[in-house]
Amino acid sequence: MASREGSLEAPKRHPVDWKNADFYNPEKLQQEMERVFDICHGCRRCVNLCTAFPRLFDLIDDGSTGEIDGVEKNRFQEVVDRCYLCDMCFMTKCPYVPPHEWNIDFPHLMLRTKAVKYQQSGAGFRDKLLSSTDLMGKVAANPVIAPTINTLNKTPLARKVLDSTLGIRSERKLPEYTAHQFRSHAQLNDRFTVKDGNKTPGKVAIYATCYINYNEPGIGHDLLRILKHNEIPTRLVEQEVCCGMPKLELGDLQAVEALKNQNIPHLLTMAQQGYAIISAVPSCVLMYKQELPLLFPEDIAIQTVAAAMFDPFEYLWLRNQDNLLKTDFKQSLGNVSYHIPCHQRVQNIGKKTRDVLQLIPGTSVNSVERCSGHDGTWGVKSEYFADSMKIGRPVFKQMSAPNPDYISSDCAIAARHIEQGICENHSGSKAKKLHPLSLLRLAYGYDDHQCSIPNLQVLPTNSVDLEDKV
Ligand code: SF4
Ligand code: SF4
Repeated sequence: MASREGSLEAPKRHPVDWKNADFYNPEKLQQEMERVFDICHGCRRCVNLCTAFPRLFDLIDDGSTGEIDGVEKNRFQEVVDRCYLCDMCFMTKCPYVPPHEWNIDFPHLMLRTKAVKYQQSGAGFRDKLLSSTDLMGKVAANPVIAPTINTLNKTPLARKVLDSTLGIRSERKLPEYTAHQFRSHAQLNDRFTVKDGNKTPGKVAIYATCYINYNEPGIGHDLLRILKHNEIPTRLVEQEVCCGMPKLELGDLQAVEALKNQNIPHLLTMAQQGYAIISAVPSCVLMYKQELPLLFPEDIAIQTVAAAMFDPFEYLWLRNQDNLLKTDFKQSLGNVSYHIPCHQRVQNIGKKTRDVLQLIPGTSVNSVERCSGHDGTWGVKSEYFADSMKIGRPVFKQMSAPNPDYISSDCAIAARHIEQGICENHSGSKAKKLHPLSLLRLAYGYDDHQCSIPNLQVLPTNSVDLEDKV
């Protein structure tokens, strides 16, 4: 009987069976790669998503037979290295995802291959360093070290040395480290009465994330300002470490488990006390909503945390549906070019950031729903920087074309990448880069450059005039 083309049933993701010895069996992995790559060869729908698929199809087309059996097996790794686990092939293109009988989950096959490689040979110094976001932040984010690192990261000679010794591309704009970590300066609001809605808990626990804590604390302060404006009591999750997403992308699943073991007890306490847990970084939210539940499918604590975890704009939109979101906006935003990050799309929550921003009078939102091509660390690496800029090019164009007042993305890393791409295209855009939470704070009437913490400067990277940088 011929196989069905596509599926009428909802996609279902199977757990990652990484505790099973077969998961790490190189022969079984090889067979599965050949099976999946052969189906992809006959399909080719994903050719324009990233550079992993074009590399696969080039390897096949240039091989001795023009089929998968003509590709030297040791070259499969070239495909794997170009996948940064954005999940877009699974989410938006593939008609053969489970429950289809072909059972294609391309990103999870790439994850398995990365995990096997990591188990066999570990990772290089650069990749270990880039995926140790917590360690780097603890060392760099303080008043003594941060100014030096930030200056060096903008010094061409230092960047050339970093490029040639470590493989961190000299042209890549890197995030600054803050001298004032978010968690130590967060002004929490606990004096408000808890007002639970039908869809939203009335109190919020913030999981800060490495990025907000060490790089752009202004985004976290903006989230707190918005919650305060809406009279929602807030607190920080008592202790936190990295969510594990950078280690997942490296294939270091033991490190993911160790981080999970540190984070989940504190998050579980918050969930059990009825808090909504909110984090301003989509990849970290996705880690708790999807990746950890798939890696540890029997773990009830993880499922409880996943159910309590919200994207900030998911929470605010549901709050609006509960008639508990204030819409007393003081300032319109004009034209906003807004990029929806892949790891927010994978959460299957819809375009909640756009929906909330469109509540603001005098605001029109141009949504761009395409991968920007950066990932957390992939686009920083010397060998993939050019590919990341190439993948992002359509996004740079779509974001700058309407001549917006602001460019924005829920992913602060993607936003900086888009800003760099627009600047390098010399589009003459006068747009400012602001995180959607910073835009919402602005719309509520809290001044663009005023931080809610006295004597604490919000990082200038939070608001940049693109024209000045061209
Ligand atoms: S997960 Fe993303 S980067 Fe990886 S193959 Fe799919 S579309 Fe490409
Ligand atoms: S992942 Fe699915 S849609 Fe993409 S090329 Fe392979 S079979 Fe086709």
